[in-house]
Amino acid sequence: MITSDVENFPGFKEGIQGPDLMHEMKKQAERFGTKIIDKNVTGVDFSKKIAKIYVGQTEYQSYTVIIATGASAKWLGIDSETKLLGKGISSCATCDGYFFKEKDIIVVGGGDSAMEEALFLTKFVKSIKIIVRKDKVRASAIMAKRADKSPKIEFLYNLEVKEFIGENSVEGVKILNNKTNKESELKIQGAFIAIGHKPNTELFKNQLEMDKHGYIIRKSFSHTSVPNVFVAGDVHDTRYRQAITAAAYGCEAALDAMRYLEENGVEVDVSANSYGQA
Ligand code: NDP
Repeated sequence: MITSDVENFPGFKEGIQGPDLMHEMKKQAERFGTKIIDKNVTGVDFSKKIAKIYVGQTEYQSYTVIIATGASAKWLGIDSETKLLGKGISSCATCDGYFFKEKDIIVVGGGDSAMEEALFLTKFVKSIKIIVRKDKVRASAIMAKRADKSPKIEFLYNLEVKEFIGENSVEGVKILNNKTNKESELKIQGAFIAIGHKPNTELFKNQLEMDKHGYIIRKSFSHTSVPNVFVAGDVHDTRYRQAITAAAYGCEAALDAMRYLEENGVEVDVSANSYGQA
C-alpha cells in the first residue's frame, strides 16, 4: 500500500500503482465471497482448536487462521525522511531502483540488506555512497567484498544522517561525522534506507514459535507451530520479500488451510459466495 509504481508484478505490462494493485486484489477476493473487515486486530488466542481473534471488544472465532501481517522497513525516524518518502527516499531497491537512473544516491546501513540494495542499484544509478554509522560494516564478508569491488560504490564510515534536503524531491543530505562531530552536506537525488526490517508479529508473541528476530517459523510448508495457524509472506520470509513471492505463499497457505479443514472434518463449500465463510 505504501509503494508507488509496481513494475515487477506479473500481468501488468505497463506496471501498476501499489494501492491500485491492492484494490484489484480486494475486488477479486470479494467476488469469491471474502468478507473484509477493515479494522486492526488487537489480540489473538491460538491455545484451543478454535482460534480466537479480537478486534477491541469483538471476538471472532475460526477453525483456521492465515497470518500475513508482513514486515515493516525500519526507518531513521527523522521528519525530512517522512516528508520525502516516495519522493526520492525508498526502502526497496527492487521496487524503486528503476526511477534512479543515472542519479547520485546514498544507501544508509551497513548490513547485508544495504550491500544487496547497493549492488542491485548499480544497474541503474551513477554513483552510490554507503553511509555506515560505525567504523565497520556488519554485513557478511562476501557481500561487503562484492560491494567494495563495484566502481560505482563508495563506503563512508562513522556517519549519521541528520536531515534530507529538498521540498518535493531529494536534493541533498546533511550528515554528521560522529568521530569528529563535524557536519557536512552531500548532493544527492535519492536515498535508500536499508537498516533492517521488523516483522509485524507483536500480536503473536508467546503464541507461535518465532526466530530471534521475531519472524514466524514455518514448521513445514506453510504450517506454524500451531496446527490450525498458517503463515504467508514477509512475516516469515527473510529472503525474497517480493509481492509476487508473498502472493505465492498466500496460495500455499490457503491450500494448506483447506487441507487442514478437510482432514479435521470441517466441510468446505468452495462454490462462489460461500468459499471463505467456513
Ligand atoms: P542488520 O540488522 O543485519 O543490519 C542493519 C544495519 O543497519 C547495521 O549496519 C546497523 O548498524 C545499521 N543501522 C541500524 N539502525 C540504524 C540507524 N538508525 N541509523 C543508521 N544505521 C543503522 O539488517 P539487515 O536487514 O541488513 O539483515 C538482516 C538479516 O538478513 C541478516 O541476518 C542478514 O545477513 C540477512 N540478509 C541476507 C542477505 C543475503 O545474504 N543476500 C540479504 C539481506 C539480508 P550497526 O552495525 O551500527 O548496528
